[in-house]
Formats: sequence, C-alpha cells, structure tokens
Amino acid sequence: MKSTNKNIAVFIDRDGTATEEVGYLNNIERLNLIKGTSHAIKLLNKKGLKAIVVTNQAGVARGYFPEELIHKANERLKKLLSKSGAYLDGIYYCPHHPDGKNEKYRKICNCRKPNPGMIEMASDELDIDISRSYVVGDKLSDVSLAHNVGAKGILVLTGYGKGELEYYKNNGKEPDYVADDLYDAVKWILKDIRTKT
Ligand SMILES: [Mg+2]
Ligand SMILES: [Zn+2]
Repeated sequence: MKSTNKNIAVFIDRDGTATEEVGYLNNIERLNLIKGTSHAIKLLNKKGLKAIVVTNQAGVARGYFPEELIHKANERLKKLLSKSGAYLDGIYYCPHHPDGKNEKYRKICNCRKPNPGMIEMASDELDIDISRSYVVGDKLSDVSLAHNVGAKGILVLTGYGKGELEYYKNNGKEPDYVADDLYDAVKWILKDIRTKT
C-alpha cells in the first residue's frame, strides 16, 4: 500500500508521561523530565515523526493556577529538552473543566481529553495523518483519546499508569501497547511503523 505524504505524529501527554507527576503543578520548578524523555523525543525528531504534547490543565478552570503558568511550564519543558538537542513540534493544552470554579474556563469543551479537539487542531496545523499516528499517556483518557480519533493508544507505567492498568483490566479497555515509559513506547512505535510498509 502506498503511504501518503502526510506526517505521522506521536501525541504525548505531559504530566506523568513526559514529566514527573506532581499533582497540580503550581510552581514550575517542580516540572522535571522523567528519565528517558529527552532520548525518546530526540529519537522521534531523528525519524521525522512529529512530537506533540497534548495536556489537560484543568487546574486553570479549578482556580489552582493561572493560565500563564502553563506557558511558563511549557517553556521550561522545551528548555529541558533542548539541553539534549530534543524539540517538540507543538504543545496543545486544555485549560477547561465542566465544573470549573473560574467562569472563564468553565465549560464542556471539545479539547479536554478524551475529546479530540487538540488532536484535530494539531492535524490541521501540522498536516498529520491521524490514522497512522499514536497517543502515549499514563491515563485511561489518553488511550481513549487515541481510540476516539482512530489512532493507536499506548499506556505508560509511569505517573498514574500502574493504577490505570488495573482499571483497564476491570473495564475491558485495552491499550495497543503497555510501555514501561515514554522511551519504551517510542521504541515500540518505531517497530510498529516498520512492520506496516
Ligand atoms: Mg498524565
Ligand atoms: Zn478544553
């Protein structure tokens, strides 16, 4: 089968997947990479896959921190990655929550994972073939997002991953792969792409 010229993307959750899970991040100094993250993203960069962060940041709607803090945290994330020569092709976040305290952000939106909004926006902006793309995250909502858009979903065992895996076993939702961490996920993705020519 001839493949299209569209880009393949790996949509990466931030907290608990690329960076250490620290609850609601209200101080950017607490944002640190999980071991192997730079390596994983650098590998995606080298292989020509789009590395895109998609993150729910309901702490804004809940009034725990201002939207500005997400921008600062994302700048720090990019800076930490750049130390190893790794870069992101995009970062998308959802600051909303249906029960948010802050009226400006209180809504049922299309971007809060597992809704497809962030992936749809990224696909338009970066010309992505979603059906050949992947979502990697430590929560059920990340894998559900993948399946909602017709991509493959990989659960990592970092962050909340181990607890979420127990939950999967009980409700029958299956990730396409369970990875030790983001680096393991990326290695699996590269192998999965190779087997599909
Ligand atoms: Mg997460
Ligand atoms: Zn949203």
